[in-house]
Amino acid sequence: MTVKNAKWGSWADPPKVHSPEEFSEILETEVLVIGAGIAGMSCAYRAAQSGVKVTVMEKLDRYTARGFNVGAVNSSVLEKYGIHNDPDAFVREWVKRCGNRCDERLVHLFAYRSPEALEWVLDLVTRPEYNVRTAISGSRYMGETYQEIYGAHFFLNGPVSRQGRPGGVSDVLECMYQEMQKLGVRFLFNTPMEQLIKENGRVTGAAAVKEDGSLIAVKAARAVVLATGGIGGNDEMCEDLSPLANRTSGKVCFPKGSDVGDGHRAALWAGAAFEDTPFPTMIHPQLYLHSSYCFLFVKNDGKRFMNEDTYLQAKSLNIIQQGEKYIWSVFDSDWPEKIPATLPYGGGIFWGQENPLGEEQFSVEKEQAVIDRGLKSGITVMADTPEELAEKMGVDRDGFTATLARYNEMCRNGHDDEFGKRPELMIPVDKPPYIARKIGPALLAVVGGVTVDPDMRVLDDEKNPIPGLYAIGNVAGGRYGVDYPMILPGNSIGSGLTFGYLLGTALGNDA
Ligand SMILES: Cc1cc2nc3c(=O)[nH]c(=O)nc-3n(C[C@H](O)[C@H](O)[C@H](O)COP(=O)(O)OP(=O)(O)OC[C@H]3O[C@@H](n4cnc5c(N)ncnc54)[C@H](O)[C@@H]3O)c2cc1C
Repeated sequence: MTVKNAKWGSWADPPKVHSPEEFSEILETEVLVIGAGIAGMSCAYRAAQSGVKVTVMEKLDRYTARGFNVGAVNSSVLEKYGIHNDPDAFVREWVKRCGNRCDERLVHLFAYRSPEALEWVLDLVTRPEYNVRTAISGSRYMGETYQEIYGAHFFLNGPVSRQGRPGGVSDVLECMYQEMQKLGVRFLFNTPMEQLIKENGRVTGAAAVKEDGSLIAVKAARAVVLATGGIGGNDEMCEDLSPLANRTSGKVCFPKGSDVGDGHRAALWAGAAFEDTPFPTMIHPQLYLHSSYCFLFVKNDGKRFMNEDTYLQAKSLNIIQQGEKYIWSVFDSDWPEKIPATLPYGGGIFWGQENPLGEEQFSVEKEQAVIDRGLKSGITVMADTPEELAEKMGVDRDGFTATLARYNEMCRNGHDDEFGKRPELMIPVDKPPYIARKIGPALLAVVGGVTVDPDMRVLDDEKNPIPGLYAIGNVAGGRYGVDYPMILPGNSIGSGLTFGYLLGTALGNDA
């Protein structure tokens, strides 16, 4: 059984185990899913489809949905664009990019089963009553160095977006939620799980606190599924398990209270092992604006520090490594011509605008609006001379003017002597007025957790399954190992969906 690591903070201290008389109510179910995010909702819906009695316990007042990119390696949507990805090549690249520290069995499962999970979602969301439009993200790194495949699925104009609220994953989860209501799934909202209940070596349920403060138990005859998300919102846990998460310039782990590691702790107390630390992080340079392009990045001493032509996770890690809270992406007033010229070489998601494949990939009007908004709020600055721009950015003036002159000279020579940026992207920044936009790394999620096997069973230190206990989504470890790979944008939600679907299928088949 895992014991508390002596270096860990009080978050790991096991609570007092409740005695049965402390529960004001004991509910019974077959499958208890704890956490109504993409992983939990997918598992619950899939299991409920086969007639199993499912209870979903959620600490917040509704399900949690974020993001727009849902990654699947292949699908009928991709086929419509004539795209078929090679799953084996995908697995090899993923394993390489994760420093060989991920569990290849899980990656292989995702590569081969994500299409089936996605078709299952398509079957639901395209029903006339939901009428969700699907598309593929057109953003992809076009070079050879950082392979990024098409496969981020967009779900547009669904029931949530039609009400004027942000859609995407919300649209998918709303459809699942409505279907689960029809199937009689019991939702316990505002009911945070406090600890798991273990009897004779088997996890048989969970103790939770109701809104009125009373303690209840939910007993699950078949399985208890942890789908409680990550630890990103818990600074103390991050410091011990994933310190990089606390070095970002900000955390966008919302809604508040969702990603605080409750499931990790409960699993630990029930005897689960964690994957090796530090846990991998998902960090995107989106604290201020999404698109960063590939022109010239400078830090606060006015100096260049990296090859700007890389993918979003890499940009973020580089900025953190420099000890900077934010850097500046510098371009010029010729951007309406210069940006489109870079698109055939493009640098993946959030590098530029996020538009569906096959549709307009760059809109000058859209970009102008982003610039205007930025100028108003101060996260973008504009000036007629490099000196003035440096002043507005608040960076070292001499450092910046020297950097800009040298950068433009290298562009004219067609070779990046400093960091080896592709020659096609060595585009001078020389047409006043000059523009600079703030880029800051934000933590989206910590994507590491308890050790699981390919059946999503939670393992102890001896790699033995803990009977009755499963984990999916960000509470589960093994998918990434060291870093969040951008080979397939949206792979976090995509894998939450896939493993939720697979576990839900297995629990249903056991019925
Ligand atoms: C702003 C933003 C944008 C993102 N965009 C994308 C994207 O486009 N594509 C992508 O792949 N990834 C994206 N991500 C990451 C992605 O959202 C997460 O990795 C993914 O949602 C994790 O899913 P999950 O089901 O494991 O956890 P979550 O979605 O975090 O769900 C966990 C649920 O468990 C509940 N819970 C926690 N503790 C308890 C408890 N004690 N009792 C009961 N319930 C509990 C939480 O309240 C929550 O509802 C984004 C993240 C952020 C922050």
